[in-house]
Amino acid sequence: MPKYIFVTGGVVSSVGKGIATAAIGRILKSRGISVAIQKLDPYLNVDPGTMSPYQHGEVFVTGDGTETDLDLGHYERFLDADLTGNSSVTTGQIYQAVLAKERRGDYLGGTIQPIPHVTNEIKGRIRAISQASGADVVIVEVGGTVGDIEGQPFLEAIRQMRKEEGRNDTLSVHVTLLPYIGATGELKTKPTQHSVRELRSMGIQPDVIICRSDYPVAEDLKAKIALFCDVERRSVISLLTMSSIYEVPLVLEKEGLGDSILKLLDIKSGERDLNDWQQLVERLQHPSGQVTVALVGKYVELHDAYLSVKEALDHAGVHHNVAIDIRWIQSEQLESGDLSLLSGVHGIVVPGGFGERGVEGMIETARLARAQGVPYLGLCLGMQVMVIEVARAVLGAEANSTEFAAGTPHPVISLLSEQEGIEDKGGTMRLGYYPCNLVPGSRVHDVYGVDEIEERHRHRYEFNNAYRDVLEKAGLVGSGISPDGQLIEICEIAGHPFMVGSQFHPEFRSRPLRPHPLFREFISAAMAFGAGEGVGEKLAGATASSDVSEAVAGGGS
Ligand code: GLN
Repeated sequence: MPKYIFVTGGVVSSVGKGIATAAIGRILKSRGISVAIQKLDPYLNVDPGTMSPYQHGEVFVTGDGTETDLDLGHYERFLDADLTGNSSVTTGQIYQAVLAKERRGDYLGGTIQPIPHVTNEIKGRIRAISQASGADVVIVEVGGTVGDIEGQPFLEAIRQMRKEEGRNDTLSVHVTLLPYIGATGELKTKPTQHSVRELRSMGIQPDVIICRSDYPVAEDLKAKIALFCDVERRSVISLLTMSSIYEVPLVLEKEGLGDSILKLLDIKSGERDLNDWQQLVERLQHPSGQVTVALVGKYVELHDAYLSVKEALDHAGVHHNVAIDIRWIQSEQLESGDLSLLSGVHGIVVPGGFGERGVEGMIETARLARAQGVPYLGLCLGMQVMVIEVARAVLGAEANSTEFAAGTPHPVISLLSEQEGIEDKGGTMRLGYYPCNLVPGSRVHDVYGVDEIEERHRHRYEFNNAYRDVLEKAGLVGSGISPDGQLIEICEIAGHPFMVGSQFHPEFRSRPLRPHPLFREFISAAMAFGAGEGVGEKLAGATASSDVSEAVAGGGS
């Protein structure tokens, strides 16, 4: 019999419910329990693929090519497992399915209503992931905050499932915030009490309350929450703000959450083994140096837009025992050609993106990296930028991608042929896993150490084969090619310490205990670069400030 854990959030959004959910998964997995995780997102978009990163942060892509919420990235990283589209459910998908059934006549003349038709569809999705995964425990996170109008059908579906599956087989975990009042120096429980009342008004009594706070939660406060919210004292779990998200499973475990869950769900399990995770956190907490990486993108005001890139850099940092200091640079600011914002960095990442804004600044960045031997990792758009930069040096300033200049005389990046004629924007990119052969003797062949890889994609444009020869002669090597020989999936600059661009997104496959090879070697190259002569002086037009010199010094150690 599968067991279900339903995670809801209260008080405010962004309290780390996704990370708490992922951490619960890790805790159970560490006891030998198999886990699947599903996110229920109450918005009406069918998937977040059509949303701006400013609205929703990164769009995470699963191997089967589903565009999903960034929390799925946390789930994959904490569980060290590949998820599928089954893990991502939105109100848009639910309504789409219900309305399609209605049009087909599946409801046999009935009146279609939120209860039971919408709630049945939701329950069907939850049970489907349980069946497909065969997991012992399915953890279901409901997006948003309890009390949101749009979340109500999901809470009602959960209420029904609690009844249908039985109380021993379902568990409700509510994640709330204890705000700190500076004037009196105390944490407040009232918003948590109200949030639990709201949840109960939907017919759901929480079994476990996870209280996020910036300060330690005293015993009497936990007792008070237990009393007012009618949960066991040991099921009031405090979760202090941590310096790293990877500490969360350890903290929750220390608070006794694992044992509480097992008891409440009546699960017998093997010995807990969180040793590898413990070591990970110790390495994170005690780096022996620092590497400064510039992330030159267009959505940098919102770090969540590049969440998996940030995490992948950290994983590589842990591997090399260095802290990664990301310098977030808005690429538009580099368009004047003044690149002093890059002064002192040890490596540059140009991540993915869509649309013209900021691309010229990225091209300036690639020019500097190629000329000065600065380690460079280009992710999707970052690879295309690399190609445009070399092309401009050989073919002239008008070389471009047709995404940014439809009439360019040198379309070195152009629309994938399979994309021609596609008008609908939703879910129509080249998405998910595709295989790629690595060219023997290339840098990436060496880095990966295998002949064939499989990586996750999300793009419409590609390297234009008509320019393969001319660009290859200029030192831009196609080192990862699709099995049919048609698509260049990886480019590298011959003779450069590390200048690699991938048409795919390697960041989606990086795991805390298994850093992605491209990120691992990029950081290795950045460390070597930082250990060399003054980085600041190497950068054209750069004026090294005092903190730059510090960063340089730190990176070399
Ligand atoms: N806009 C580019 C394309 O569609 C790059 C996409 C990306 O960086 N994910 O090909």
